Amino acid sequence: MAGWIDSKGAKQLLFYVFFVLDTETVQVNRFVDTWELARLQRELRGEAALAGFDRLLEGLPEQPERKVSWSLAGETDKLGRRFMSLRADAVVTLECQRCLQPFDLQLTAESRLELLESESEIEDEDTEEDPDAPDRVAGSSHFDVLELVEDELILALPYVPKHEVCPSLPDALKSAEGGDTDRPSPFSVLAKLKKD
Ligand SMILES: [Zn+2]
Repeated sequence: MAGWIDSKGAKQLLFYVFFVLDTETVQVNRFVDTWELARLQRELRGEAALAGFDRLLEGLPEQPERKVSWSLAGETDKLGRRFMSLRADAVVTLECQRCLQPFDLQLTAESRLELLESESEIEDEDTEEDPDAPDRVAGSSHFDVLELVEDELILALPYVPKHEVCPSLPDALKSAEGGDTDRPSPFSVLAKLKKD
């Protein structure tokens, strides 16, 4: 390259080309008209700084600068019911509960939600229990997608975060697991007691 464009500029240019080619996908920042989304059966996409997700990051180790990306697709079925399908992706740094070292985990949340007119309508319908029914959410002409993205990512967090295989155990744990220590094994101690 002749150096007329830096890498950030190149990325923007690529994005622009993608954006123009893919006319079904629209980039938005935060607020969405869910009724329009469902009526037009559109898909929206967005990105937000991970650092802004306070509830998600509460209690987690310090995070490098990262982005959360999401897409939201609207749908109206033959019965006139309205739905939206969310997908959110983020990489978060968690602390392994086995070796206490930080590690990065790819979080993906996917959910399909039925749109209802209001919170009270959701409560009314919840009395008829149907375990197969999709989750419900109150639609809005000014719906905060990032709140939903954050809720779904919180649900996707592992309850006890752990490496699949810890790269290294702390020394204290290693010796406890029977490295070359001078302590006699519990079994030889027992055997000795029996003899006495
Ligand atoms: Zn670990």
